[in-house]
Amino acid sequence: MPAFAENLLRDNIRRLRPYSSARSEFKGAARIFLDANENPFDNGLNRYPDPLQRPLKARIAALRGIQPEQIFLGNGSDEAIDLLVRLFCEPGLDRIITLPPTYGMYEVCAGICGVEVVQIPLTAGFQPDVEAILAASDGRSKLLFVCSPNNPTGNAFDTALLQALLRGFPGIVVVDEAYGDFSSRPGALPLIDEYENLVVLQTFSKAWGLAGIRLGMAFAQAPLIEWFNKVKPPYNVNQLTQNAAMEALREPELFHRQLATILAERAILEQALPLLPMVEQVFPSDANFILVKTAEPNDLYRHLVSAGIIVRNRSSVILCEGCLRITVGTPEENRQLLDVLKQYATA
Ligand SMILES: *Cc1c(COP(=O)(O)O)cnc(C)c1O
Repeated sequence: MPAFAENLLRDNIRRLRPYSSARSEFKGAARIFLDANENPFDNGLNRYPDPLQRPLKARIAALRGIQPEQIFLGNGSDEAIDLLVRLFCEPGLDRIITLPPTYGMYEVCAGICGVEVVQIPLTAGFQPDVEAILAASDGRSKLLFVCSPNNPTGNAFDTALLQALLRGFPGIVVVDEAYGDFSSRPGALPLIDEYENLVVLQTFSKAWGLAGIRLGMAFAQAPLIEWFNKVKPPYNVNQLTQNAAMEALREPELFHRQLATILAERAILEQALPLLPMVEQVFPSDANFILVKTAEPNDLYRHLVSAGIIVRNRSSVILCEGCLRITVGTPEENRQLLDVLKQYATA
């Protein structure tokens, strides 16, 4: 009997014979490689990178307590989002479900492929509306994108709601944990052995401080990950990126120190922002940004820009009326932010 994921695939993908690269065809050790038309003179980068990034996956697997076969690595988690849509969604027939307000790339990737997006807004408390989501789902609803902690609201979703979605949704539930490192909640990764319809996305772009190398992770049961490997460009994660990630993982102290600082600074901002007269509400954050509601968002945004501080104006986004999204910066940057906000209050 074919695995769960295989049943959901587009027909052309199920029939696909993947490209076989030189580096994936010969798997053993050798003295002399004359199989890939590379320049033979060693400069550290003259060879094609490992298509399956095995040393890096071994490290990540150990760090996360999972198997290397349960990991896909991509050119940012954005690549994983794009591949998911192309694996499972037949243009004009299949749909994805998103829960606005949320990350924009789900809709963009679907749009590029001509795949319809069904939007089921979060509840007023910024939680998934499980009943409405399941009522809107059928056999053509291939992917449900659940961003937790959610961008731009900043909160993580209740685990019980997530489990209800995993049990009830007929397609694949993609839990995007780009901000998971900043949350004290356990996240969905421990559930991957239990749910064959779960994909968890994480990234090196936020807490790891490596947005520039473009490295994202997708975790799922091995049969689903195999399909990622069949459709990805053969050398999608370049050697420089693999090297930089290995180095960061070798010395995780810097990651832990910076994470602790960002969390402490988030607490400082969560204390200070509500004291400002123009701030109407500061939403609790499980991420490295804070959503702030104010009476004059556009005015305040312009004031910050004129002081050289750029935040994200989310005031025209559903459920975020009046809101600015402020990333937690360095201690000095946050001090300056509060100073400029106080100036606005007294002006
Ligand atoms: C920043 C962010 C990402 C990161 O994408 P990368 O391609 O890994 O840089 C993914 N999802 C959400 C919700 C984000 O905010």
